[in-house]
Amino acid sequence: MFKKWRLTDRTRTLLLMELAITLPALALMGFSIWNLKSIQRDKAIEAAISVDLQYVLKGVEHKAWDKAATLITPLQKVFPSIDDPEKAKAKLGEILAAHPEFAFAILYDKKTNRLISREQPLREKEWAFCSYADQSIDMVAKWVPMEVGSLYERARMMEKKDEPGMLLYGEWSKKDGIRAYTAHALFIPSNVPSDRVTLAVVGFDPDYMRNQFFPHVIKNTLSMKNGTMKSDPHPPAISIHATHDPTSWVASENWDGGKPEVERSFSDSFSGLVASIKYPGTTIADMGTKFLHYNYTVLAALSLFMIGGILLTYRNISREMKLAKLKSDFVANVSHELRTPLALIRLYAETLELGRLNSKEKYQEYFRIIREESERLTALINNILDFSRIEAGRKEYEFKETNLAELVRTTLESYRFQIEQHGFAFEENISADVPPVTVDREAIARSLLNLVNNALKYSKDKKYIGVSLYRANGSVNLEVCDHGIGIAPDEQEKIFEKFYRCGDPLVHNIKGSGLGLSLVRHIARAHGGDVKVESAPEKGSKFIIALPLDPSVRTGAAMA
Ligand code: ADP
Repeated sequence: MFKKWRLTDRTRTLLLMELAITLPALALMGFSIWNLKSIQRDKAIEAAISVDLQYVLKGVEHKAWDKAATLITPLQKVFPSIDDPEKAKAKLGEILAAHPEFAFAILYDKKTNRLISREQPLREKEWAFCSYADQSIDMVAKWVPMEVGSLYERARMMEKKDEPGMLLYGEWSKKDGIRAYTAHALFIPSNVPSDRVTLAVVGFDPDYMRNQFFPHVIKNTLSMKNGTMKSDPHPPAISIHATHDPTSWVASENWDGGKPEVERSFSDSFSGLVASIKYPGTTIADMGTKFLHYNYTVLAALSLFMIGGILLTYRNISREMKLAKLKSDFVANVSHELRTPLALIRLYAETLELGRLNSKEKYQEYFRIIREESERLTALINNILDFSRIEAGRKEYEFKETNLAELVRTTLESYRFQIEQHGFAFEENISADVPPVTVDREAIARSLLNLVNNALKYSKDKKYIGVSLYRANGSVNLEVCDHGIGIAPDEQEKIFEKFYRCGDPLVHNIKGSGLGLSLVRHIARAHGGDVKVESAPEKGSKFIIALPLDPSVRTGAAMA
């Protein structure tokens, strides 16, 4: 026959806890870790930030285009007709004087192959500027007549799409030996009839482009009102550089050099320029790592809390289960304890009733047994009643000034015979200097009886009980000493807990409810004192109740 495997209460609770709390908690933790790992593996954060930055750079080009359009659109309306060259030249001079951001203006007509040009009149006296403007005009004069057909077509197409009919070009050239960015805008003046191919070109002043135009564009992009930039406490930095030279040409104030995260060439306008973007002082990879670190730390902290919570719940459940087991043991013990004396009393009473005993001693003995058993019953019931009153918080003490020596003596008197009958050597030491103490007589007597009873129950061969009453500093001590089975050190604190009985197999053969010592402790504490034990297994035990002389230290101690 093999033993059928059974789930104990403990394993069942464990399994239940695992299923109900631990498993979902573990699954959640596992999922979070897996999620973070996949974010880490796919570099998802980096990718998301890169896409955002690409979008911002696209914005830089859009803004540059819009800004150029707002400068060019008014010019389209005021540009003169080329048919009267003298008047046109004068008008161009006027327009340029009103717009210092332009270096020169050109008008070209395909049919007449006529080209008129004008430099910025405000700067006619600056030799370097004039030489630059001349050079640029020469270059445009060579290039535009060759391309005029296709340029014109493109501009007209854009107009049809309701866009400003404007083409933007740029290239790098040398000015005073320094590299300068020359940008041109090509457009069709408004007064040109649709069957006429006439183009206007204006050249932006390179200094204006570098010092005002592009810095504004960058600033506007970074302070987008409806975008995320404005509220971003760490906005990105933007720089613009030449296609062939990564050195920054124009940059936002927070640009700190170094490798940009994302770059984008100006595709539809301002050729030869590249916009770059990065986060100052950090990289996207760093930000990703920081984000992951932060999340891992939070996850670890939460997991710790969760494990703590599970352990706490487990401990509480275990404690409750232990208590439940103690209670059921208690019920079994008490029923047993009640049944035995009752059976004895009945048996002896029936025998007496029959009147068949022949000696007077036998009668005496039977009466004594009945008395002793009823005393045991009374003590047990008193303990249970006290216990239930304490549990319900209804236990009240009647404190009265008491001569403890007299109380101890009379309590023991009725017990002495029983003690000696069981073959115990009994010693009573009551000091003469014990002062009166304010106590509840009945409670103290019950404590003493509980201790003496235990000494009787838990002694084997060395049958000795000693009771002492003496004055110690600030208190009166009541001591009960035996040479019995003793108590293991790790159980010496637990024996004062309700229902607790020692694990020693010897104890299990002795009847008991596990209530006595918890009552003794409650009583001692309610008197402002305490009870302690000194004991060694196989050597014996000494229980000491200390009762303070000063009644003001008394408290209504709670049941442990
Ligand atoms: P009970 O005696 O009814 O079991 P108690 O609360 O009086 O309950 O005692 C609790 C436990 O402490 C006992 O079960 C026993 O194991 C241990 N104990 C108490 N008094 C003694 C003693 N004098 N010697 C050895 N063990 C003792």
